[in-house]
Parts: sequence; structure tokens; C-alpha cells
Amino acid sequence: MLRVVLTLLVALSFSFSHKLIATTYPVYYPLYYIAKGRQNVDVLIKTQADPHHYELTPKDAQRLIEADLVFTLGVEGWEENILRDLPKGRVVLLKDGISFVKYGKFPDPHIWLSPREYAILIKNVKEALLRYDPQSKAYYQKRYEEYMQKLVKLERAFANTLKNCKYRTIVSTHRAWDYLAKDYNLRTVSLTGVHAEEEPRPSEIMMIIQTVKREGIKYIFAELGQDKKVADFIASQTGAKVLLLNSSLFPRRYSDNYFTIMEENLKVLKEGLQCR
Ligand SMILES: [Zn+2]
Repeated sequence: MLRVVLTLLVALSFSFSHKLIATTYPVYYPLYYIAKGRQNVDVLIKTQADPHHYELTPKDAQRLIEADLVFTLGVEGWEENILRDLPKGRVVLLKDGISFVKYGKFPDPHIWLSPREYAILIKNVKEALLRYDPQSKAYYQKRYEEYMQKLVKLERAFANTLKNCKYRTIVSTHRAWDYLAKDYNLRTVSLTGVHAEEEPRPSEIMMIIQTVKREGIKYIFAELGQDKKVADFIASQTGAKVLLLNSSLFPRRYSDNYFTIMEENLKVLKEGLQCR
């Protein structure tokens, strides 16, 4: 039904505003940084709901329709549904050039948790802005370079910290950390659903409990802002403690951005993996 409404509204809409919308926070942060001062930038999902299970509301449909451009990674099921209904020229797909980890035929969306893969998305954001508003080219280029410098610094911090860790297995209830593990030679053990709120299979929970016991793992990771009862159960069976990672990059403070959240994630990983 909402898709029908969306289609109708698109057909009726006029394009007076100049507004760019990112579907999720990982796309919003670099878009906002690079375009700030030249474009209005907003994010579609503003709540801490599981970003893998978003459902379009009438209000959000309206915001999408009023946007001049919608920036999206475009790999979540809901993203694909929404994008089908928007005029092609208004959608910026950011997945070009990214090497996706796949589970069956489904790409894992969490590329932003690897500073290396994320760099490709940021470049795609910048290039779309240059095409959209070539008059501001020098400005966007400068802002992009600043952002990339911060990213290089962050990447170094991850590489240095994750080099010397007592544990090299990230045990998490949300399967989000495979990109990071690939970059820094870590291993992940997770429940198989990419979605944080999917019902886990008992056999998987048992497998995780056995791994934690066998490897003597002291900390396991759950997702900040999501139900952590599975993690608590695993902890109760193994004596491990539960730490919280913010894989969706949802900001908790006004001043939060990609870098503050990832630095926080690194601190938590450092504690959990006992890195020097
Ligand atoms: Zn996730």
C-alpha cells in the first residue's frame, strides 16, 4: 500500500527544494561532512530501530519524495523496494567498486565497519556530489580530502590496536563484523542472521557457547540498543561478560559522528579482545 502511495506522490511532486537524503547513518556521515554548507542533508532512518528491518512510514515516504537525491548503499531488502519506486535519476547507488562479503546470494551490508571498504563508499558519495553540483567541485574535493585524512588516521588506530590482542575471535550475537575481521586478520563467530533481531537457532547458540568455553573467551559482544537476552544467556552459560558494540553507527549524542562512534567501538574491541 505504501508503495502505491509513494508512486502516486512521486508522480505529483514538484522539485522546489534542494535536499539530499541518506538512507542510513553510515551514508549520512560522509555525505553531511562533504556537502555541509552547500546542500541540506538529512537521514531517512532517525530512530534506533534495527536498520535491517526498516518499514517505510507515510512521513518518511513524503521526505523521500521531496528529496532531490537519495543516497543509499542499496543492498538491504527495504532499500531495494523503496528505490524501485523512485525515479532513477534521483537515486545515488553507492555500492560500485565495493567487495561485498556474501551469505548465499545476500551481500552483508556492514561495509562501514571496515575503514578500507568504507573509503570506496565515501569516494562514490563525493563523485555523485561533483556530478550533481559541479560548481562546488573545489569545495567538495577539499571536504572529501579532509574526511579521508580522518579515515586514514582511524584505520591506523585500528591496525595498531588490533595487531596485538590476546584473543582474535569476535564472538557477537549480531553478524556485523566480518569486514573488520577480514581487514585485520580476526575471526568472527556470530549467529547467522544479518539482522540483529532475527530469532536465533538453538544449535547456533550451543555452537557459540562451545567456542567461548573452548577458547577461554572472556568477553562477547552484543549490539548497542538491541535486545541482548541471547548474549546474556551465552554469558550465563560461560562466565563471559557482555560488551556492547555500535555496528549501525546510530548516534547517541549530538556530537557523535562516524569517527567518534568507531573510536568507541575500537575501545570496546580492545577491551574485549584484550589488545595491548
Ligand atoms: Zn547490522
